[in-house]
Amino acid sequence: MNWLTNYVRPKIRALYARKEVPDNLWHKCPSCEAMLFHRDLEENLNVCQHCGFHMRLEPVKRLASMFDDGEYQSIELPKTVVDPLKFRDQKRYTDRLKEAQSKTTRHDAIVVGSGLIGGQPAVVAAFDFGFMGGSMGIAVGEGILAAARAAIAQNAALIAVPASGGARMQEGILSLMQMPRTTIAVEMVKEAGLPYIVVLTDPTTGGVTASFAMIGDIHIAEKGAQIGFAGARVIESTIRETLPEGFQRSEYLLEHGMVDMVVHRRDLRPTLSRVLALLMQKTLVPAEPESLDEVPAALPTTQPAAEEKARTQAEAPDATPPQAGAEKTGAEQPV
Ligand SMILES: [Zn+2]
Repeated sequence: MNWLTNYVRPKIRALYARKEVPDNLWHKCPSCEAMLFHRDLEENLNVCQHCGFHMRLEPVKRLASMFDDGEYQSIELPKTVVDPLKFRDQKRYTDRLKEAQSKTTRHDAIVVGSGLIGGQPAVVAAFDFGFMGGSMGIAVGEGILAAARAAIAQNAALIAVPASGGARMQEGILSLMQMPRTTIAVEMVKEAGLPYIVVLTDPTTGGVTASFAMIGDIHIAEKGAQIGFAGARVIESTIRETLPEGFQRSEYLLEHGMVDMVVHRRDLRPTLSRVLALLMQKTLVPAEPESLDEVPAALPTTQPAAEEKARTQAEAPDATPPQAGAEKTGAEQPV
């Protein structure tokens, strides 16, 4: 009944009651165990600023980090059959799916977006490892197909960013069928004369490694990512040998010629811009054989130029993407 109980105590209580602070303000780096403030971590694209350890990045942030100014259009993915095998282990597959959907707020383990990277058109298909380990079932296969179709329609490069444990066992043989399906999707892109780049992130294993993730024109791997088919432990117990240090990591694969480059996440967009500028330029050249008409005058003899023209024209039908659009011819006319 004095100012202590009436005034001071409630105030102190109110102070302590203000515990709305979320638990995940600080993250511990799994590699160096440093405490990282969530805002710093987000700014640093989920890379530890102390040791450079690359943590997983969810696909929406991934897409934003890859496209120019973080701007892109999401590509609507087709709805697919849910749980065709009526699969059940400890839990029903449909329950597992619902759980993953409510946790990640997305339909399945893949997100596809299109936009510009370094001014070049690109379609990116990024995996969500948080959705049932990024496993590839019918919906993911369909997502890769949709991404490939979009890339061809927009005359854009296709970039796959896998983060997956492999095929989704709950869909049995149907998930394994996504391996040839996604491979065909990639072949469609290549036939259209468009570049296909894979950005391997941690982890890329199993059926994903065994299909579309290893047939890129260029393979870029993030630092320290685990990339392989079977797990190291399985291999060790099969061949009864100790595996070398860093086995199945990006750097090891680079040394052994499985990937073309290993990049830091913050260098990914500049690297992709550079690579796309080179590759897209190449696909543009055969699109306009007429422009070579002006070349002979500048050359000492006309014969090589005529040969060159004949060759380019002969090549043109294969090399020209079917959608070699009006904007391309516009870009090349000044030459
Ligand atoms: Zn660290």
